[in-house]
Amino acid sequence: MPFWAVLLLYSFISLFVFHVPLLHYILEHEGGWGLVLSVALAYICTTNMLLVLLSLPGNLCMQIAMALLSLGNALALYYINTYHVFLTKSMMGNVLHTNASEVSALIGGHLWLFALLGVALAVLFLILPMARAHLRAKLGIFLTSALIFLVWSFTHTKQWLFLDHHARYIGGLSLPYSYSVNALRVLLASWHQSPPKLFDNLSFKARRTIVVLAIGESARRANYGIYGYARATTPKLQERLDKQEILALKATSCATYTTAALSCMLTCKQGYENLPSFLHRQGVKVVWLSLNDGQPSMHVDWHPGENTWKRWLQAKGVDGQTLDFDMALAHALPFVIQRYVNHNLLVILHLKGSHGPLYVDKVPKHFAPFKPLCTHSEPNACSVESLINAYDNTIAYNDMVLDAIIDNLQHIQNPALLLYMSDHGESLGEHGLYLHGTPYLIAPDVQKQIPFIVYANPMFKSTHHFKAPLQDYDQRVIFSSVLGAFGAQGMSDAYNPHWDIFQ
Ligand SMILES: [Zn+2]
Repeated sequence: MPFWAVLLLYSFISLFVFHVPLLHYILEHEGGWGLVLSVALAYICTTNMLLVLLSLPGNLCMQIAMALLSLGNALALYYINTYHVFLTKSMMGNVLHTNASEVSALIGGHLWLFALLGVALAVLFLILPMARAHLRAKLGIFLTSALIFLVWSFTHTKQWLFLDHHARYIGGLSLPYSYSVNALRVLLASWHQSPPKLFDNLSFKARRTIVVLAIGESARRANYGIYGYARATTPKLQERLDKQEILALKATSCATYTTAALSCMLTCKQGYENLPSFLHRQGVKVVWLSLNDGQPSMHVDWHPGENTWKRWLQAKGVDGQTLDFDMALAHALPFVIQRYVNHNLLVILHLKGSHGPLYVDKVPKHFAPFKPLCTHSEPNACSVESLINAYDNTIAYNDMVLDAIIDNLQHIQNPALLLYMSDHGESLGEHGLYLHGTPYLIAPDVQKQIPFIVYANPMFKSTHHFKAPLQDYDQRVIFSSVLGAFGAQGMSDAYNPHWDIFQ
Protein backbone atom coordinates (compact mmCIF):
# COMPACT_ATOMS: atom_id res chain seq x y z
CA MET A 1 0.00 0.00 0.00
CA PRO A 2 1.24 3.51 -0.68
CA PHE A 3 2.40 5.44 2.37
CA TRP A 4 -0.37 8.06 2.17
CA ALA A 5 -3.04 5.35 1.87
CA VAL A 6 -1.82 3.69 5.10
CA LEU A 7 -2.06 7.02 6.90
CA LEU A 8 -5.62 7.56 5.69
CA LEU A 9 -6.60 3.97 6.46
CA TYR A 10 -5.38 4.35 10.04
CA SER A 11 -7.05 7.78 10.44
CA PHE A 12 -10.41 6.61 9.11
CA ILE A 13 -10.47 3.35 11.07
CA SER A 14 -9.44 5.24 14.20
CA LEU A 15 -12.05 7.95 13.62
CA PHE A 16 -15.00 5.66 12.94
CA VAL A 17 -14.15 2.88 15.39
CA PHE A 18 -12.92 4.87 18.38
CA HIS A 19 -14.60 8.25 18.13
CA VAL A 20 -18.30 7.47 18.04
CA PRO A 21 -18.68 8.77 21.65
CA LEU A 22 -16.96 12.04 20.67
CA LEU A 23 -19.11 12.59 17.58
CA HIS A 24 -22.17 11.67 19.63
CA TYR A 25 -21.16 14.16 22.34
CA ILE A 26 -20.95 16.99 19.78
CA LEU A 27 -24.37 16.19 18.31
CA GLU A 28 -25.92 15.74 21.74
CA HIS A 29 -24.70 19.20 22.77
CA GLU A 30 -26.10 20.74 19.63
CA GLY A 31 -22.76 21.31 17.96
CA GLY A 32 -24.31 20.12 14.67
CA TRP A 33 -22.93 18.17 11.71
CA GLY A 34 -20.73 21.10 10.67
CA LEU A 35 -18.76 20.70 13.89
CA VAL A 36 -18.62 16.93 13.50
CA LEU A 37 -17.04 17.48 10.09
CA SER A 38 -14.55 20.01 11.48
CA VAL A 39 -13.52 17.77 14.36
CA ALA A 40 -13.18 14.77 12.01
CA LEU A 41 -11.02 16.81 9.63
CA ALA A 42 -8.89 18.14 12.49
CA TYR A 43 -8.42 14.58 13.74
CA ILE A 44 -7.34 13.26 10.35
CA CYS A 45 -4.92 16.15 9.77
CA THR A 46 -3.26 15.96 13.19
CA THR A 47 -3.08 12.15 13.02
CA ASN A 48 -1.36 12.37 9.62
CA MET A 49 1.14 14.85 11.01
CA LEU A 50 1.84 12.70 14.06
CA LEU A 51 2.30 9.54 11.98
CA VAL A 52 4.66 11.28 9.55
CA LEU A 53 6.83 12.29 12.52
CA LEU A 54 6.72 8.73 13.87
CA SER A 55 7.74 7.37 10.45
CA LEU A 56 10.97 9.38 10.34
CA PRO A 57 13.09 6.66 12.04
CA GLY A 58 11.53 4.13 9.66
CA ASN A 59 8.15 2.67 8.64
CA LEU A 60 8.40 -0.05 11.28
CA CYS A 61 8.47 2.55 14.03
CA MET A 62 5.22 4.07 12.72
CA GLN A 63 3.61 0.62 12.36
CA ILE A 64 4.48 -0.31 15.94
CA ALA A 65 3.03 3.02 17.09
CA MET A 66 -0.19 2.43 15.10
CA ALA A 67 -0.49 -1.04 16.65
CA LEU A 68 0.07 0.18 20.22
CA LEU A 69 -2.29 3.13 19.78
CA SER A 70 -5.01 0.86 18.39
CA LEU A 71 -4.72 -1.37 21.42
CA GLY A 72 -4.66 1.60 23.82
CA ASN A 73 -7.62 3.25 22.09
CA ALA A 74 -9.67 0.06 22.24
CA LEU A 75 -9.13 -0.27 26.00
CA ALA A 76 -9.88 3.44 26.53
CA LEU A 77 -13.04 3.10 24.45
CA TYR A 78 -14.24 0.33 26.73
CA TYR A 79 -14.06 2.61 29.78
CA ILE A 80 -15.55 5.60 27.96
CA ASN A 81 -18.39 3.43 26.71
CA THR A 82 -19.06 1.51 29.90
CA TYR A 83 -18.59 4.17 32.58
CA HIS A 84 -19.37 7.27 30.51
CA VAL A 85 -16.15 8.88 31.64
CA PHE A 86 -14.13 11.58 30.00
CA LEU A 87 -10.40 10.90 30.15
CA THR A 88 -9.55 14.41 31.35
CA LYS A 89 -6.50 15.34 33.39
CA SER A 90 -8.29 14.84 36.70
CA MET A 91 -9.69 11.50 35.50
CA MET A 92 -6.21 10.35 34.49
CA GLY A 93 -5.04 11.55 37.92
CA ASN A 94 -7.66 9.25 39.45
CA VAL A 95 -6.61 6.39 37.18
CA LEU A 96 -2.92 6.74 38.06
CA HIS A 97 -3.61 7.05 41.79
CA THR A 98 -6.05 4.17 41.95
CA ASN A 99 -5.08 1.21 44.11
CA ALA A 100 -4.94 -2.40 43.00
CA SER A 101 -8.24 -3.52 44.52
CA GLU A 102 -10.09 -0.71 42.79
CA VAL A 103 -8.44 -1.61 39.50
CA SER A 104 -9.52 -5.22 39.78
CA ALA A 105 -13.11 -4.07 40.19
CA LEU A 106 -12.86 -2.30 36.85
CA ILE A 107 -11.57 -5.31 34.91
CA GLY A 108 -14.25 -7.56 33.56
CA GLY A 109 -17.48 -7.25 31.63
CA HIS A 110 -16.91 -6.92 27.92
CA LEU A 111 -13.36 -5.68 28.30
CA TRP A 112 -12.08 -8.81 26.52
CA LEU A 113 -14.16 -7.96 23.44
CA PHE A 114 -12.60 -4.52 23.17
CA ALA A 115 -9.15 -5.97 23.85
CA LEU A 116 -9.73 -8.47 21.01
CA LEU A 117 -10.68 -5.63 18.67
CA GLY A 118 -7.53 -3.75 19.68
CA VAL A 119 -5.32 -6.80 19.10
CA ALA A 120 -6.91 -7.47 15.69
CA LEU A 121 -6.27 -3.89 14.55
CA ALA A 122 -2.77 -3.96 16.00
CA VAL A 123 -1.94 -7.11 14.00
CA LEU A 124 -3.45 -5.54 10.86
CA PHE A 125 -1.21 -2.47 11.09
CA LEU A 126 1.86 -4.57 11.88
CA ILE A 127 1.56 -6.94 8.90
CA LEU A 128 0.24 -4.41 6.39
CA PRO A 129 2.59 -4.36 3.38
CA MET A 130 3.63 -0.77 2.98
CA ALA A 131 5.62 1.04 0.29
CA ARG A 132 8.58 3.20 1.28
CA ALA A 133 8.08 6.92 0.88
CA HIS A 134 10.68 9.61 0.20
CA LEU A 135 11.32 12.26 2.80
CA ARG A 136 10.00 14.84 0.32
CA ALA A 137 6.68 13.01 0.03
CA LYS A 138 6.41 12.80 3.82
CA LEU A 139 7.16 16.49 4.15
CA GLY A 140 4.47 17.17 1.51
CA ILE A 141 1.86 15.19 3.48
CA PHE A 142 2.86 16.92 6.72
CA LEU A 143 2.64 20.43 5.26
CA THR A 144 -0.59 19.75 3.32
CA SER A 145 -2.25 18.42 6.49
CA ALA A 146 -1.06 21.43 8.48
CA LEU A 147 -2.29 23.81 5.79
CA ILE A 148 -5.75 22.21 5.56
CA PHE A 149 -6.01 22.26 9.36
CA LEU A 150 -5.08 25.96 9.60
CA VAL A 151 -7.19 27.17 6.66
CA TRP A 152 -10.20 25.20 7.89
CA SER A 153 -9.79 26.52 11.46
CA PHE A 154 -9.58 30.14 10.41
CA THR A 155 -12.50 29.91 8.01
CA HIS A 156 -14.67 28.37 10.74
CA THR A 157 -13.95 30.70 13.66
CA LYS A 158 -17.64 30.65 14.64
CA GLN A 159 -17.13 27.09 15.86
CA TRP A 160 -14.35 28.09 18.28
CA LEU A 161 -16.80 29.16 20.95
CA PHE A 162 -18.34 25.68 21.09
CA LEU A 163 -14.91 24.03 21.03
CA ASP A 164 -13.61 26.31 23.76
CA HIS A 165 -16.69 25.73 25.89
CA HIS A 166 -16.45 21.95 25.57
CA ALA A 167 -12.66 21.69 25.28
CA ARG A 168 -12.16 19.56 28.38
CA TYR A 169 -14.74 17.00 27.29
CA ILE A 170 -13.80 16.92 23.62
CA GLY A 171 -10.19 16.49 24.73
CA GLY A 172 -11.31 13.77 27.13
CA LEU A 173 -12.88 11.77 24.28
CA SER A 174 -10.15 12.27 21.66
CA LEU A 175 -8.06 9.10 21.50
CA PRO A 176 -5.17 8.70 22.04
CA TYR A 177 -4.62 12.36 23.03
CA SER A 178 -6.95 12.15 26.04
CA TYR A 179 -5.18 9.41 27.95
CA SER A 180 -1.64 9.96 26.69
CA VAL A 181 -1.36 13.75 26.99
CA ASN A 182 -3.40 13.93 30.20
CA ALA A 183 -1.46 11.09 31.85
CA LEU A 184 1.75 12.90 30.92
CA ARG A 185 0.40 16.11 32.46
CA VAL A 186 -0.39 14.28 35.71
CA LEU A 187 3.06 12.67 35.82
CA LEU A 188 4.84 15.94 35.09
CA ALA A 189 2.88 17.66 37.86
CA SER A 190 3.80 14.95 40.38
CA TRP A 191 7.48 14.96 39.37
CA HIS A 192 7.67 18.67 39.94
CA GLN A 193 6.36 18.24 43.45
CA SER A 194 9.08 18.08 46.07
CA PRO A 195 8.16 16.76 49.54
CA PRO A 196 6.78 19.53 51.77
CA LYS A 197 9.08 21.17 54.31
CA LEU A 198 8.31 20.81 58.01
CA PHE A 199 7.43 23.66 60.36
CA ASP A 200 9.09 24.12 63.75
CA ASN A 201 7.20 22.27 66.48
CA LEU A 202 4.64 24.01 68.66
CA SER A 203 3.29 22.99 72.01
CA PHE A 204 -0.42 23.06 72.70
CA LYS A 205 -2.04 24.23 75.91
CA ALA A 206 -5.42 22.70 75.15
CA ARG A 207 -6.50 19.28 76.45
CA ARG A 208 -9.27 17.09 75.00
CA THR A 209 -10.29 19.94 72.72
CA ILE A 210 -12.32 19.22 69.61
CA VAL A 211 -12.17 21.39 66.50
CA VAL A 212 -14.51 20.58 63.64
CA LEU A 213 -13.58 22.23 60.38
CA ALA A 214 -16.48 21.86 57.96
CA ILE A 215 -15.45 22.84 54.44
CA GLY A 216 -18.37 23.81 52.24
CA GLU A 217 -18.62 23.42 48.47
CA SER A 218 -19.79 26.17 46.12
CA ALA A 219 -21.80 27.82 48.90
CA ARG A 220 -22.22 31.48 48.08
CA ARG A 221 -22.93 33.91 50.88
CA ALA A 222 -25.53 35.82 48.87
CA ASN A 223 -28.02 32.93 49.27
CA TYR A 224 -27.76 32.53 53.06
CA GLY A 225 -30.70 33.93 55.01
CA ILE A 226 -28.41 34.79 57.95
CA TYR A 227 -26.41 37.09 55.66
CA GLY A 228 -29.49 38.98 54.51
CA TYR A 229 -30.87 36.88 51.62
CA ALA A 230 -34.58 37.60 51.21
CA ARG A 231 -35.48 33.90 51.44
CA ALA A 232 -35.36 31.98 54.72
CA THR A 233 -32.76 29.46 53.50
CA THR A 234 -31.12 29.18 56.95
CA PRO A 235 -33.90 29.11 59.57
CA LYS A 236 -31.98 26.95 62.06
CA LEU A 237 -28.80 29.00 61.92
CA GLN A 238 -30.92 32.16 62.18
CA GLU A 239 -32.38 30.88 65.44
CA ARG A 240 -28.87 30.27 66.78
CA LEU A 241 -27.71 33.65 65.54
CA ASP A 242 -30.61 35.33 67.33
CA LYS A 243 -29.55 33.56 70.53
CA GLN A 244 -25.96 34.72 69.86
CA GLU A 245 -24.72 31.15 69.79
CA ILE A 246 -22.94 31.53 66.46
CA LEU A 247 -20.95 34.16 64.60
CA ALA A 248 -21.89 34.78 60.96
CA LEU A 249 -18.65 36.23 59.59
CA LYS A 250 -17.87 37.23 56.03
CA ALA A 251 -14.97 35.85 54.02
CA THR A 252 -13.57 36.10 50.51
CA SER A 253 -12.19 33.04 48.77
CA CYS A 254 -8.69 33.17 47.29
CA ALA A 255 -9.71 31.15 44.23
CA THR A 256 -12.81 30.07 42.34
CA TYR A 257 -12.08 26.34 42.21
CA THR A 258 -11.82 23.67 44.86
CA THR A 259 -8.20 22.50 44.96
CA ALA A 260 -6.75 26.04 45.03
CA ALA A 261 -9.24 27.25 47.64
CA LEU A 262 -8.61 24.20 49.86
CA SER A 263 -4.93 24.89 49.64
CA CYS A 264 -5.50 28.49 50.84
CA MET A 265 -7.36 27.22 53.90
CA LEU A 266 -5.03 24.36 54.73
CA THR A 267 -1.61 25.68 53.69
CA CYS A 268 -0.13 28.79 55.27
CA LYS A 269 3.21 28.78 53.48
CA GLN A 270 4.04 27.55 49.98
CA GLY A 271 6.12 24.38 49.98
CA TYR A 272 5.40 23.56 53.64
CA GLU A 273 3.28 20.83 55.21
CA ASN A 274 -0.44 21.53 55.41
CA LEU A 275 -2.62 21.90 58.50
CA PRO A 276 -3.73 18.23 58.80
CA SER A 277 -0.16 16.93 58.37
CA PHE A 278 1.32 19.47 60.78
CA LEU A 279 -1.22 18.81 63.55
CA HIS A 280 -0.96 15.05 63.05
CA ARG A 281 2.82 15.36 63.51
CA GLN A 282 2.25 17.45 66.66
CA GLY A 283 0.19 14.68 68.26
CA VAL A 284 -3.27 16.11 67.61
CA LYS A 285 -5.58 13.38 66.27
CA VAL A 286 -6.68 14.34 62.77
CA VAL A 287 -9.63 12.79 60.95
CA TRP A 288 -10.67 13.63 57.38
CA LEU A 289 -14.16 12.58 56.33
CA SER A 290 -15.26 13.48 52.84
CA LEU A 291 -18.14 13.18 50.44
CA ASN A 292 -16.23 15.40 48.02
CA ASP A 293 -12.88 15.26 46.23
CA GLY A 294 -9.95 17.52 45.51
CA GLN A 295 -8.27 17.04 48.88
CA PRO A 296 -4.52 17.64 49.16
CA SER A 297 -2.10 14.84 49.99
CA MET A 298 -1.64 14.72 53.74
CA HIS A 299 -0.85 12.60 56.80
CA VAL A 300 -3.75 12.07 59.17
CA ASP A 301 -4.83 9.55 61.79
CA TRP A 302 -7.95 8.43 59.97
CA HIS A 303 -9.01 9.08 56.39
CA PRO A 304 -11.39 6.29 55.46
CA GLY A 305 -12.52 5.91 51.85
CA GLU A 306 -16.14 6.79 51.21
CA ASN A 307 -17.31 3.17 51.12
CA THR A 308 -15.38 2.22 54.24
CA TRP A 309 -16.86 4.91 56.38
CA LYS A 310 -20.35 4.45 54.95
CA ARG A 311 -20.18 0.78 55.96
CA TRP A 312 -18.85 1.88 59.34
CA LEU A 313 -21.77 4.32 59.76
CA GLN A 314 -24.24 1.64 58.75
CA ALA A 315 -22.78 -0.63 61.39
CA LYS A 316 -23.36 2.18 63.91
CA GLY A 317 -27.03 2.16 62.95
CA VAL A 318 -27.14 5.39 60.96
CA ASP A 319 -30.11 5.75 58.62
CA GLY A 320 -29.15 4.40 55.19
CA GLN A 321 -31.06 7.13 53.35
CA THR A 322 -28.71 9.84 54.57
CA LEU A 323 -25.48 7.99 53.74
CA ASP A 324 -24.99 9.70 50.39
CA PHE A 325 -25.58 13.18 51.73
CA ASP A 326 -23.81 15.67 53.98
CA MET A 327 -26.00 14.76 56.94
CA ALA A 328 -24.02 11.49 57.11
CA LEU A 329 -20.93 13.56 58.00
CA ALA A 330 -22.84 15.18 60.86
CA HIS A 331 -24.03 11.74 62.02
CA ALA A 332 -20.46 10.42 61.95
CA LEU A 333 -19.24 13.12 64.30
CA PRO A 334 -20.24 11.63 67.70
CA PHE A 335 -18.62 8.29 66.77
CA VAL A 336 -15.40 9.99 65.69
CA ILE A 337 -15.32 12.07 68.88
CA GLN A 338 -15.91 8.96 70.96
CA ARG A 339 -13.03 7.24 69.20
CA TYR A 340 -10.55 9.98 70.17
CA VAL A 341 -12.26 11.39 73.25
CA ASN A 342 -9.10 11.71 75.36
CA HIS A 343 -7.12 13.62 72.72
CA ASN A 344 -6.99 16.96 71.07
CA LEU A 345 -8.93 16.26 67.91
CA LEU A 346 -9.32 17.98 64.55
CA VAL A 347 -12.14 16.62 62.40
CA ILE A 348 -12.26 17.93 58.87
CA LEU A 349 -15.58 17.35 57.14
CA HIS A 350 -15.40 17.99 53.40
CA LEU A 351 -19.02 18.49 52.41
CA LYS A 352 -20.73 17.88 49.08
CA GLY A 353 -22.45 21.18 49.71
CA SER A 354 -23.87 22.87 46.62
CA HIS A 355 -21.71 21.43 43.88
CA GLY A 356 -23.23 21.99 40.46
CA PRO A 357 -24.32 21.43 37.84
CA LEU A 358 -26.91 19.05 39.28
CA TYR A 359 -27.97 20.70 42.56
CA VAL A 360 -30.93 18.34 43.11
CA ASP A 361 -28.40 15.54 43.50
CA LYS A 362 -26.85 17.03 46.63
CA VAL A 363 -29.93 16.70 48.85
CA PRO A 364 -32.26 13.75 49.51
CA LYS A 365 -35.08 13.45 46.96
CA HIS A 366 -37.87 14.35 49.37
CA PHE A 367 -36.09 17.48 50.56
CA ALA A 368 -37.35 20.43 48.46
CA PRO A 369 -38.56 23.45 50.41
CA PHE A 370 -38.23 25.55 47.25
CA LYS A 371 -39.98 24.50 44.03
CA PRO A 372 -40.18 24.07 41.01
CA LEU A 373 -36.76 22.52 40.52
CA CYS A 374 -34.18 22.49 37.78
CA THR A 375 -33.34 18.81 37.30
CA HIS A 376 -31.22 19.31 34.19
CA SER A 377 -27.48 18.84 34.37
CA GLU A 378 -27.00 21.81 32.06
CA PRO A 379 -28.00 24.78 34.21
CA ASN A 380 -28.62 27.08 31.23
CA ALA A 381 -31.32 24.67 30.01
CA CYS A 382 -33.49 25.64 33.03
CA SER A 383 -35.33 28.79 33.99
CA VAL A 384 -33.30 30.98 36.36
CA GLU A 385 -36.06 30.60 38.95
CA SER A 386 -35.96 26.80 39.01
CA LEU A 387 -32.17 26.82 39.04
CA ILE A 388 -32.10 29.13 42.07
CA ASN A 389 -34.72 26.97 43.80
CA ALA A 390 -32.59 23.87 43.34
CA TYR A 391 -29.54 25.77 44.61
CA ASP A 392 -31.36 27.26 47.59
CA ASN A 393 -32.46 23.76 48.62
CA THR A 394 -28.79 22.82 48.99
CA ILE A 395 -28.26 25.86 51.25
CA ALA A 396 -31.33 24.93 53.31
CA TYR A 397 -29.97 21.39 53.62
CA ASN A 398 -26.60 22.79 54.65
CA ASP A 399 -28.46 24.77 57.35
CA MET A 400 -29.73 21.48 58.82
CA VAL A 401 -26.31 19.83 58.56
CA LEU A 402 -24.53 22.66 60.38
CA ASP A 403 -27.29 22.74 62.97
CA ALA A 404 -26.86 19.00 63.59
CA ILE A 405 -23.08 19.41 63.95
CA ILE A 406 -23.56 22.24 66.44
CA ASP A 407 -26.11 20.16 68.30
CA ASN A 408 -23.46 17.45 68.73
CA LEU A 409 -20.85 19.86 70.02
CA GLN A 410 -23.27 21.64 72.32
CA HIS A 411 -23.92 18.51 74.33
CA ILE A 412 -20.44 17.19 74.96
CA GLN A 413 -18.20 17.79 77.95
CA ASN A 414 -15.03 18.62 75.97
CA PRO A 415 -14.29 22.14 74.76
CA ALA A 416 -15.49 22.15 71.14
CA LEU A 417 -15.40 24.54 68.21
CA LEU A 418 -16.94 24.51 64.74
CA LEU A 419 -15.48 26.51 61.87
CA TYR A 420 -17.51 26.40 58.68
CA MET A 421 -16.23 28.00 55.50
CA SER A 422 -17.04 27.41 51.85
CA ASP A 423 -14.27 26.82 49.34
CA HIS A 424 -15.65 29.36 46.85
CA GLY A 425 -18.99 30.75 45.66
CA GLU A 426 -21.13 30.03 42.60
CA SER A 427 -22.71 31.81 39.64
CA LEU A 428 -26.38 31.13 38.98
CA GLY A 429 -26.81 32.74 35.58
CA GLU A 430 -25.80 36.30 36.45
CA HIS A 431 -24.05 37.89 33.43
CA GLY A 432 -24.66 34.59 31.63
CA LEU A 433 -22.24 32.78 33.97
CA TYR A 434 -22.93 29.45 35.64
CA LEU A 435 -21.08 27.30 38.18
CA HIS A 436 -17.62 28.53 39.21
CA GLY A 437 -14.00 28.45 38.09
CA THR A 438 -14.08 31.78 36.23
CA PRO A 439 -10.52 33.23 36.22
CA TYR A 440 -10.17 35.07 39.52
CA LEU A 441 -9.54 38.54 38.11
CA ILE A 442 -12.78 38.61 36.15
CA ALA A 443 -14.86 36.35 38.42
CA PRO A 444 -18.01 38.01 39.80
CA ASP A 445 -18.31 38.57 43.56
CA VAL A 446 -20.84 35.75 43.95
CA GLN A 447 -18.05 33.29 43.10
CA LYS A 448 -15.80 34.77 45.81
CA GLN A 449 -18.02 35.90 48.68
CA ILE A 450 -18.40 33.01 51.07
CA PRO A 451 -19.87 32.31 54.50
CA PHE A 452 -17.63 31.83 57.55
CA ILE A 453 -19.68 30.54 60.46
CA VAL A 454 -18.22 29.94 63.92
CA TYR A 455 -19.70 28.09 66.87
CA ALA A 456 -17.99 27.53 70.23
CA ASN A 457 -19.55 25.47 73.01
CA PRO A 458 -19.69 26.82 76.60
CA MET A 459 -16.62 24.80 77.71
CA PHE A 460 -14.63 26.25 74.84
CA LYS A 461 -15.81 29.80 75.55
CA SER A 462 -14.64 29.51 79.17
CA THR A 463 -11.03 29.25 77.99
CA HIS A 464 -10.98 31.24 74.72
CA HIS A 465 -11.87 34.82 73.86
CA PHE A 466 -12.75 36.01 70.38
CA LYS A 467 -11.10 39.10 68.96
CA ALA A 468 -13.43 41.81 67.67
CA PRO A 469 -14.73 40.52 64.31
CA LEU A 470 -13.29 41.92 61.08
CA GLN A 471 -15.35 43.19 58.14
CA ASP A 472 -14.00 40.47 55.90
CA TYR A 473 -11.75 37.43 56.37
CA ASP A 474 -9.16 35.84 54.18
CA GLN A 475 -9.21 32.01 53.89
CA ARG A 476 -5.81 31.95 55.61
CA VAL A 477 -7.67 32.66 58.86
CA ILE A 478 -8.44 28.93 59.13
CA PHE A 479 -4.86 27.68 59.63
CA SER A 480 -3.89 29.97 62.52
CA SER A 481 -7.34 29.93 64.14
CA VAL A 482 -7.29 26.14 64.38
CA LEU A 483 -3.84 26.34 66.00
CA GLY A 484 -5.17 29.11 68.26
CA ALA A 485 -8.10 26.91 69.24
CA PHE A 486 -5.64 24.26 70.46
CA GLY A 487 -3.76 26.92 72.44
CA ALA A 488 -0.63 27.02 70.30
CA GLN A 489 2.44 28.13 72.26
CA GLY A 490 5.94 28.89 71.05
CA MET A 491 7.43 30.29 67.87
CA SER A 492 6.79 28.65 64.52
CA ASP A 493 6.17 29.87 61.00
CA ALA A 494 3.06 27.73 61.15
CA TYR A 495 1.30 30.17 63.46
CA ASN A 496 0.51 33.80 62.67
CA PRO A 497 -1.36 35.52 65.53
CA HIS A 498 -2.66 38.09 63.04
CA TRP A 499 -4.76 35.37 61.37
CA ASP A 500 -6.03 33.88 64.64
CA ILE A 501 -9.63 34.82 65.47
CA PHE A 502 -8.87 34.20 69.17
CA GLN A 503 -7.08 36.55 71.55
ZN1 LIG B 1 -15.36 23.67 45.06
